[in-house]
Amino acid sequence: MTLSNASSSEHTVELERDVVVIGAGISGLVTARRLVEAGHTVAVLEARDRVGGRTWSQTIDGEFFEIGGQWVSSDQDALKALLRELGKETFPRYRDGNSIYISGDGERREFRGDFPVADTTQQQIQLMVDALDELAAQIDASAPWNHPRAAELDGIQFSTWLAGLSDDAEAIRIVDHYIAAGMLTKPSHCFSLLQAMLMVASAEKFEHLIDEGILLDERVVGGMQSVSEQIAAELGAEVVHLATPVRRLQWASNGDGAPGTVITTSDRVTVRSRFAVVAIPPNLYATIDYSPALPRPQQVAHQHHSMGLVIKAQAAYERPFWRDRGLSGTGFASHERVCEVYDNTVAGHDHGMLVGFIVSERADETWALPEDRRREAVLESFAAYFGEEALKPIAFYLSDWGSEEFTRGAYASSYDLGGLSRWGHLQNEPVGPVYFASSDIQGAGYLHVDGGVRIGTDTAARIGSAL
Ligand SMILES: Cc1cc2nc3c(=O)[nH]c(=O)nc-3n(C[C@H](O)[C@H](O)[C@H](O)COP(=O)(O)OP(=O)(O)OC[C@H]3O[C@@H](n4cnc5c(N)ncnc54)[C@H](O)[C@@H]3O)c2cc1C
Repeated sequence: MTLSNASSSEHTVELERDVVVIGAGISGLVTARRLVEAGHTVAVLEARDRVGGRTWSQTIDGEFFEIGGQWVSSDQDALKALLRELGKETFPRYRDGNSIYISGDGERREFRGDFPVADTTQQQIQLMVDALDELAAQIDASAPWNHPRAAELDGIQFSTWLAGLSDDAEAIRIVDHYIAAGMLTKPSHCFSLLQAMLMVASAEKFEHLIDEGILLDERVVGGMQSVSEQIAAELGAEVVHLATPVRRLQWASNGDGAPGTVITTSDRVTVRSRFAVVAIPPNLYATIDYSPALPRPQQVAHQHHSMGLVIKAQAAYERPFWRDRGLSGTGFASHERVCEVYDNTVAGHDHGMLVGFIVSERADETWALPEDRRREAVLESFAAYFGEEALKPIAFYLSDWGSEEFTRGAYASSYDLGGLSRWGHLQNEPVGPVYFASSDIQGAGYLHVDGGVRIGTDTAARIGSAL
């Protein structure tokens, strides 16, 4: 089935619906699915000519690449339930064999289980993990700003807090890496201890973020984007409109304080509705013109949300050659350009694939290289883990979310220092008939597809009870 690609039309389409949803990522599509199930009429307006937002698959040089979000964690109940509901199948990530750890002084060690670091370093890691778990247990992931010391905790740079806990540089680098490089994709001096507590609380405990057996458990057959594609196909062309970037949201009050009609204007479709759901990441809120203007606190708050930056680098090979050497394909080296690497081979496929991540300043530096040198530099980093065979892939791709107008970074957006305690309480509050939904403003499942499923379900329920 084809979705409505409104850009092919010469004329503006005018629609009347109960709810307009802006953005056909997982958050917007789940909101729409649940509202339609409850008997409401919905239009989803999506800026791109595809659905899925930060989940996206492409076949490049004959190889299947997941360019955005792909993994399902074993504890992500909401996403797993949705996959079952849609009849989607999953396959486990390959993880047999030894992993590789390259220490700060460049020594390459193979290991299984805990990182092969000195016992004292291991103890220091545990001490920091325990301290963060203890703090995270004090907050509700859906309202970290309610912690009695929220402002104080939100004023402490995560880097400063770690440095105060230990003088073991390697232990600090590892724990810093898990949260800063592995999750928020910002340097740890840019975000607060409270933001790190939220990250941990959103996954219940630190172990769920560092145990790759839990975190990177499975992938969806056909790719994570196919989840959104199936939802959009089931909603149909009457509901989902592609290539319709929303430019303006206009609404009026009925005079009795109750919200009146919302008029949503996109390049080709105009929708009159009772409610609107802005299901785009917070760093893009200001790309829409609101009339009346959003209230002062929201206008200010939205400027304090920014995207992290990570390059997802993938290289395909004739065979998963590392497996022949008893390697799982997993590797960590916080000082390497590619600081984490995993086997990303599609189950049942002969060709092997590695996926690695290049984060923050290393991503800036990598994008600044001439294209040929960039490819070489990334492959050299893969080779630091797996040897010279890694230098000769049959297909290669670097995900460039920073260049995407309708995303502008990766993986997700988070507050700057002090922002979460000061403005977080506003992020899930509607403004008149306008609601906000994104995995970036969700508690449990924060920053993950699972969070998008949860906030979509929740937003649909809130609007459903108001309709
Ligand atoms: C490289 C990468 C790897 C990741 N890895 C994982 C992973 O392995 N597992 C995991 O769970 N999560 C992962 N994530 C995170 C996950 O992909 C996101 O949390 C999730 O997809 C966000 O969904 P969303 O619907 O909230 O936002 P988005 O997916 O960003 O959707 C927002 C939609 O709004 C549209 N839009 C924007 N502006 C407008 C406008 N003005 N008008 C109309 N439409 C507009 C956009 O085009 C987009 O389709 C990863 C993300 C990236 C980038």
